[in-house]
Amino acid sequence: METTLDETLRSAGLRATAGRIAVLDALVSMPHSDADGVFRVVARELPTTSIQSVHNILADLTAAGLVRRIEPAGSAALYERRVGDNHHHVVCSRCGAVGDVDCVVGHAPCLDPSSTSGFTVRSAEVTFWGLCSDCQESAA
Ligand SMILES: [Zn+2]
Ligand SMILES: [Zn+2]
Repeated sequence: METTLDETLRSAGLRATAGRIAVLDALVSMPHSDADGVFRVVARELPTTSIQSVHNILADLTAAGLVRRIEPAGSAALYERRVGDNHHHVVCSRCGAVGDVDCVVGHAPCLDPSSTSGFTVRSAEVTFWGLCSDCQESAA
């Protein structure tokens, strides 16, 4: 059963506004987008939307756990709909393309630190760096 985006919003306690639905919809088709990228897509549908309102919506959706925010070093914050599975990312060090990497081994936190300084560990966030296939081709 496919849950609609407005059901998703309401089950997270958020009002299903046109802006929130458009932002979620944009992230379904373009995972790992920054706020500018989301804004460009949303503005096509909702021309009165401002970049500030997209930032606010992304913050609300992140706080509600509907969107995950990642921040690879040197990149703007990126947002995606894939939440709660402790997946990792591979980032192209040349063009910044981002791909998903499933849990490295088994389930969250999926990596065993040799020492946790007394913390209980619930998730692990790993960024793998390399060259995407396009950049490998242009480098060859
Ligand atoms: Zn690349
Ligand atoms: Zn991801």
